[in-house]
Amino acid sequence: MRIGVVSDVHANLEALEAVLAHQDRWAPDMLVCLGDFVGYGPDPNACVERLRPLLGAAVMGNHDQAALGDSPTDHFNFFAQEAIVWTRQMLEDGPRAFLSGLSPHADLAEGTAALPGLVLAHGSLRRPLDEYVLDARIARASFLAAPFEIALVGHTHQPAIFIESKRRVSAQGLLPEVPRALTPGARYIINPGSVGQPRDGDPRASYILLDTEGRTATLFRIPYPFEETQRKMDAAGLPVPLIERLALGR
Ligand code: ZN
Repeated sequence: MRIGVVSDVHANLEALEAVLAHQDRWAPDMLVCLGDFVGYGPDPNACVERLRPLLGAAVMGNHDQAALGDSPTDHFNFFAQEAIVWTRQMLEDGPRAFLSGLSPHADLAEGTAALPGLVLAHGSLRRPLDEYVLDARIARASFLAAPFEIALVGHTHQPAIFIESKRRVSAQGLLPEVPRALTPGARYIINPGSVGQPRDGDPRASYILLDTEGRTATLFRIPYPFEETQRKMDAAGLPVPLIERLALGR
């Protein structure tokens, strides 16, 4: 099965459309989203409505939870809080109902016999909503937390792959368009990076194509017209640092 993996769309419709157009060429069997549909960007409703009919599975992100008003926002930085308040005001009933129906963790094996041991979480398997899996030490806790074979996580906005093999956990790089072989017997935590607000110094939208039979994960980076997203954010009165960072990929 070939699975398109997107995460951290953050209400960026231009980036989302570029990614969806690009992955159409692979005709994936399933599309999954690892949360943070909204927050930061100018098109929360349109992004949820665009993705909703396409998704085979999805989980809730910390920005989705905050935009629903279900959790305090004081642990977010000031600009993120401002964007959350704006998103709460903009969110319509349909997208709100969809986001509130998501859970922080999903096990694809439960619904699909073809996918043993494939799980989804926004942050980590230890703390699905808010932990950043940034290095091998943190990844180790997630390998211990659940009996998955492949875990797909987002939240850091940085593409990454962590491998547990012979009880050792290591981080490996992912180069765009170079399929990474997934060795049988090893376990993996794979982060596709962010569609709508990349933070690894590359402003292009990021996603992964996972092939569970060919056993590969391939990263793609897709240019999109971020000036258009920035123009919409400016018109919406969203914070200037959030507008500027789209051009920097930071
Ligand atoms: Zn995010």
